[in-house]
Amino acid sequence: MPSPAPAWRRALRAIVLWFDTGAAPAGDGDPDRIDWLRVLPFIGLHLACLGVFWVGFSWFAFWTAVALYAARMFAITGFYHRYFSHKAFRTSRPVQFAFAVVGAASVQRGPLWWAAHHRHHHRHADTDLDVHSPRHGFWRSHMGWFLTPRGFRTDFDAIKDLVRFPELRLLDRFDILVPVLLAMGLYALGSWLESAHPGLGTNGPQLLVWGFFVSTIVLFHVTVTINSLSHRWGSRRFATRDDSRNNALLALLTFGEGWHNNHHHYPGSARQGFAWWELDLTYLGLRAMALLGLVSDLRPVPAALRTARREAA
Ligand SMILES: [Zn+2]
Ligand SMILES: [Zn+2]
Repeated sequence: MPSPAPAWRRALRAIVLWFDTGAAPAGDGDPDRIDWLRVLPFIGLHLACLGVFWVGFSWFAFWTAVALYAARMFAITGFYHRYFSHKAFRTSRPVQFAFAVVGAASVQRGPLWWAAHHRHHHRHADTDLDVHSPRHGFWRSHMGWFLTPRGFRTDFDAIKDLVRFPELRLLDRFDILVPVLLAMGLYALGSWLESAHPGLGTNGPQLLVWGFFVSTIVLFHVTVTINSLSHRWGSRRFATRDDSRNNALLALLTFGEGWHNNHHHYPGSARQGFAWWELDLTYLGLRAMALLGLVSDLRPVPAALRTARREAA
């Protein structure tokens, strides 16, 4: 067995990996233990939200945070999830790239990493191999799993259809780039508005804290409830092999992802709310994009599968 790398080299490697996820990890140690040094930026994102006590509040900063939550949630659910992970519709290469960039701004890493782990989840949902099943504990399923060397890794065999796009590989490798550009852009916008439109009551630091840090952290925790809470809380329309649930509140907050039992029953559909009353904002957004000709071939749920295999009460 090779001897473990010295501590200084492991520390240096972790810092290089903040910027370039293509760098080789230290390669030793427990793959399921949290890599505290590597996840310092993630902890820092949370702490930066405390900045609201210094920068104060303005409605402009608040609505910027809401708009960025909505745009990025749609990119995560519509594209990272339904398009990259499940191929539930078709689109052009420029639109694919544009929404990969918006998704990357969510600080949930690149589309290749996201899709590879998600496909793994569907193959092994709630078995021992599922890295974010709540059967292994709530916090592990919510966030602990991807703070580990195993979670950081991307299984390129699972995403052979996606790795052939160099622009996606680039976004994935330098996944810090888009978030940093967004943060800098917000700071610059706020600074300009402070002098150009002082009536808005905003400034650079305020727009950075609300638009980037607060919006990103709320977006993150809401997104990952689909791994943690959606396999625990809610009802089960279908007798899937996993613990997935339908939960209206989570579906509202995640723009349709909370119909998670539907989704595990038939993951290939662009639509996750199967019944007319199951609000699925992402699907409505995709329908609108289809009307504009930006996406096409939204895969429906086969009629027989909408009601089949109903779980006995
Ligand atoms: Zn699931
Ligand atoms: Zn899925």
